[in-house]
Amino acid sequence: MKQVDVVVIGGSAAGILAAITARRHYPEKSTLLIRKEKQVLIPCGIPYIFGTVGTPENNLISDGVLQKNNIELIIDEAKELSPTEKKVTLASGESVKYDKLILATGSVPSLPPIPGIDKKHVYPVKKDVQYLQNLLNALKDMKDLVILGCGFIGVEFADECKKNRDINVTIVEMLDQCLQIAFGEKGCRCCQEVEDYLEQKGINIITGVKVEEVLGNDRVTAVKLSDGKEIKADAMIVGVGVRPNADLAKKAGLAVDKRGIIVDTTMRTSDPAIFACGDCASKFSFFTGQTSNLRLASIASTEARIAGANLYEISRKNPGVVGVFSTALGNLTVAIAGMSEKGAKQCGFEVVTGEAEAPNRHPGGMPGMSKMWVRLVFNKVNGELVGGAVRGGPSAGELINTIGACLQNRMRANDIAIFQIGTHPAVTASPIAYQLVNAAEMALKNMKG
Ligand SMILES: Cc1cc2nc3c(=O)[nH]c(=O)nc-3n(C[C@H](O)[C@H](O)[C@H](O)COP(=O)(O)OP(=O)(O)OC[C@H]3O[C@@H](n4cnc5c(N)ncnc54)[C@H](O)[C@@H]3O)c2cc1C
Repeated sequence: MKQVDVVVIGGSAAGILAAITARRHYPEKSTLLIRKEKQVLIPCGIPYIFGTVGTPENNLISDGVLQKNNIELIIDEAKELSPTEKKVTLASGESVKYDKLILATGSVPSLPPIPGIDKKHVYPVKKDVQYLQNLLNALKDMKDLVILGCGFIGVEFADECKKNRDINVTIVEMLDQCLQIAFGEKGCRCCQEVEDYLEQKGINIITGVKVEEVLGNDRVTAVKLSDGKEIKADAMIVGVGVRPNADLAKKAGLAVDKRGIIVDTTMRTSDPAIFACGDCASKFSFFTGQTSNLRLASIASTEARIAGANLYEISRKNPGVVGVFSTALGNLTVAIAGMSEKGAKQCGFEVVTGEAEAPNRHPGGMPGMSKMWVRLVFNKVNGELVGGAVRGGPSAGELINTIGACLQNRMRANDIAIFQIGTHPAVTASPIAYQLVNAAEMALKNMKG
């Protein structure tokens, strides 16, 4: 029987980074990664298969990263785990003994309980090359596509599916606005501009209603909405919700609940030799300590870096989910980190906000200029930053990461207002108008007011 020091199950964001981190921190330990799929998709790139990048093959993580880090790879499915024998049994019948194990088994799409949702041509978003190739092929003959859910995934799918394709795309969202679940407030500028962009591309957006039934015999032909209307549909893409894939852990007797595999802040499961990270692991909010349902590649990566480093000596602690994400449609990027104003209030925070907008170049006539808008949300009681949103060009994607760093370091408005920022006419806003700093200044003013 094969014997390896560190075994990682799962070959996507969390599994790869956990294995690499284990090798970096413990180069003397042999490391094996087991995953079931032959080719691994870049999960966040999946919507772009249907437009910008064109095929699943153009959206893969190369195995070169494993070879480079001296990580052995087995392509097989882990069928059974015995924590007492420290043994994993694979579908091929082979068994592997480990000293330390990391579970990075991810998540699977969860379908809302809508009658008829199991009909043909209803597509939950699976991270599977052949499945997505089939969907890509099927779209060639379709005229009417419905997308269920207008979160980041729904928005990206709608935009990409409409590209270079003569197809009617309709998004159905039960909230009042696209991306409202992320940005919180109805009428939020980011949500509004995303809707404007999509409508301008000819995408039909229906908000404030639910899909009540999927109609058709064996395959979808239309969807029935809660307001009684029916929309034609040759296919429906379901961009809502995932479920932690914790079946292997559960069968092995590890502590598991509907949040996933239960882990402590060191990413250890109920068995001290077994760690878990990524979408399969339980999460808690950085701000409240309460359970978090957020599942992101960025969170998976952080947890993997913690799990891999802590295998033989505990050096890292999980601070909880901050939640930083962005999306881009054409030249428009919208992004959010931490809590929205509404979300913070719902969690019991008294908040004060500050906003600033300016060109991201100086003078504004410099090439590549776009207007960048920043909104910061602070806890009024202790002055700590609890959230931020950005709307702008591509650089908004990095600015939201700076805001994420401010959040994680519990910075206050005054700390941010005296940031020593680097500015240059060709790449940033002017120091006078720098949006992040000025939004903090405005919040300070509002705090006094
Ligand atoms: C369409 C889409 C777009 C997204 N966009 C973004 C984005 O822009 N930014 C962002 O931060 N997040 C995004 N996400 C979320 C992100 O993809 C996930 O959070 C991320 O994939 C989690 O990584 P993971 O490694 O934990 O799990 P997964 O990606 O689910 O990978 C799990 C791995 O475990 C393997 N596995 C499972 N069970 C077994 C077994 N028994 N034996 C062997 N192998 C097994 C699987 O085959 C797979 O390799 C997006 C998700 C989707 C679906």
